[in-house]
Amino acid sequence: MGIKHKVDSSIPIIIDKMGYIFNPLILRFKSEKNQLLIFYFHGVYESSQQKKECHVSPQNNITKEQLSDFVKYFLLKKYKFISPKDLEKGLDKDKSYVMITFDDGYYNNFYSLPILEEFRVPATFFITTRNLVSNSSYWWDVIYKYRTREGVSLELVQEEQESLKRLHHSEIDQYLLDNFGDFCFTPWSDLDRPMSSIELKVFANHDLVTIGNHTHSHSILTNYNLAEAAEEFKKSNDILTKIIGYTPTTMAFPNGNYSSSLIEVANKAGFKYVFTTKSYINRLPLKYGNIITLNRFMGRAISIHSYGTFTRLGYNGSLLFNNFKKKIKDLI
Ligand SMILES: [Zn+2]
Repeated sequence: MGIKHKVDSSIPIIIDKMGYIFNPLILRFKSEKNQLLIFYFHGVYESSQQKKECHVSPQNNITKEQLSDFVKYFLLKKYKFISPKDLEKGLDKDKSYVMITFDDGYYNNFYSLPILEEFRVPATFFITTRNLVSNSSYWWDVIYKYRTREGVSLELVQEEQESLKRLHHSEIDQYLLDNFGDFCFTPWSDLDRPMSSIELKVFANHDLVTIGNHTHSHSILTNYNLAEAAEEFKKSNDILTKIIGYTPTTMAFPNGNYSSSLIEVANKAGFKYVFTTKSYINRLPLKYGNIITLNRFMGRAISIHSYGTFTRLGYNGSLLFNNFKKKIKDLI
């Protein structure tokens, strides 16, 4: 490992370590008004035991217990949990808000309902409709399940997943068929399967649930032309509207990839709010125009107590260090 690489990887860790000490002190004096924090998760485990079954790629999955702690943490800090309907009504810039979102449309998202009901907090779920209508496993889980069974390390699995993110969904399908055979898309259990249409209908009817668009094929849209992107939004919205009885006004970009032209396409498709994976606080008032782009923090597969103060202050070691490096580069 070169010296530069060593410095690059250790500085963010040092910043984070200092954050654990200083964040609580800073937060005693800093106002948290005027901010909306949005988090994204993928799956929900009923227990930590389920994690060990290795049926779903573990990034951004949360146990029921961690979700419960997450909600309690922000309620205690006087944050209000909101839904897209609350965004429409407008937010008070003297208050602090938090929003829970889940991407992809896993059946296991049902496990979040008892927690949402217990605390009466809403959540927004972005659904990939192609998996829903075909009851097929998500491609990143196919890689994870098969490779883990072969004994491949998580690091190498993640490398293989990353390498496929440059591709069109039809190329990813082909890669999986070539590597894992004709039945690779068949889910292994309730943990890795998508919701069915009937289940989604029931789920969407819940008063704490809002459904959003996550494209039809979980397309990483920067790999597609704009006409294909428009088709991905439309196909998904048509299917969702038929099932849930309303047309989603919210959309989350798969893998967080987007461009200003894609925002324009999303605007034309009728979305009012689009969700990215940029790790920043949304400041109030939100910029009102035809379409509002919202930042989201990655919901981590660990206790909120270990990263909550960082999100409330809107930074973490790598983000701060990368921004600093960029500023220095701009100056030079
Ligand atoms: Zn996704």
